[in-house]
Amino acid sequence: MAIKKILISSCLLGKKCRYDGNHNKLDNLLNENIEWVSVCPEELGELGTPRPPAEKQIDGRIKTILGEDVTDKFNLGSYKSLTIGIENNCSLAILKSKSPSCGKGEIYDGSFSNKLIKGDGIFTELCQNNNIEVISSENKTQIDKIVNSL
Ligand code: SF4
Repeated sequence: MAIKKILISSCLLGKKCRYDGNHNKLDNLLNENIEWVSVCPEELGELGTPRPPAEKQIDGRIKTILGEDVTDKFNLGSYKSLTIGIENNCSLAILKSKSPSCGKGEIYDGSFSNKLIKGDGIFTELCQNNNIEVISSENKTQIDKIVNSL
């Protein structure tokens, strides 16, 4: 069987690239027919780790909890990540839920009070606008289905 390349948020593979220096490792990703193409848009945006938490605001800008506008860096990292995905012919991405970069379907509302609203992260939007299907890390059933079908 040909190896399938799938984009994935680096923190889901166990890389400690989250804003707080931790990871969100998912179990059950082992499959010799899958090559995971690991990207962290926020590290590629040169935001560093650890870094202040950031959320998407109502106007679409990304701001840190300290009030700094980091939209340009988020865009930079998302475009770099997209380029890596395109260069590797990825048509599928498994991305970390709720993140202002990688979230799909729901993200934090910009108030830093743990409230979720409907929406996608910046990298997720970019993937979907470039024919890369995004699956949220919370969709364990679909992820298992993909990993077990290859
Ligand atoms: S959710 Fe995305 S941006 Fe955040 S640490 Fe994981 S890979 Fe990096």
